[in-house]
Amino acid sequence: MRIEIHRSKRRKKTVAARIVGDTMQVRAPADLPQDELDRVIATLQPRLERACRRQAALDSEALAARAAALNERYFGGRLRVGRVLYVTNQEQRYGSCTPQTAVIRISHRIAAMPRWVRDYVLVHELAHLVEPNHSPRFWALVNRYPRAERARGFLMGACLAEPEEGEDT
Ligand SMILES: [Zn+2]
Repeated sequence: MRIEIHRSKRRKKTVAARIVGDTMQVRAPADLPQDELDRVIATLQPRLERACRRQAALDSEALAARAAALNERYFGGRLRVGRVLYVTNQEQRYGSCTPQTAVIRISHRIAAMPRWVRDYVLVHELAHLVEPNHSPRFWALVNRYPRAERARGFLMGACLAEPEEGEDT
């Protein structure tokens, strides 16, 4: 975990911290001695990490339930879906699907996007359980999701790297 410290003259007494992705962002008063700040961080970090893991587990549970609903709706419930979870280590991709294990990993960035975009990414990865490549048959499956085109536009506008041909998005 990276630790990013922002010191502020306006901040008087308290230290505030949060975890974003794999970084712990700490805001601290400008004049707080470093050793004191180190002690505060040492106390806060495990607590924040626990809370984060708990939240990630809850989010992934909801994500798996959503994937099951989309499997019913767009694939007639025929897909055998493995684990579905949010991950924080996918900077370049929105999601990935491992056909051998049917595990679907979704970038945590997607959690902050509109639900219809998240659903698109799930449908995209679910479709890879049928068609591993980005073949015309694959896109025909994905495009059964009514807002597929719009969601692709949204994701492009989100300035994340475009997937290379043949690479998982
Ligand atoms: Zn893909």
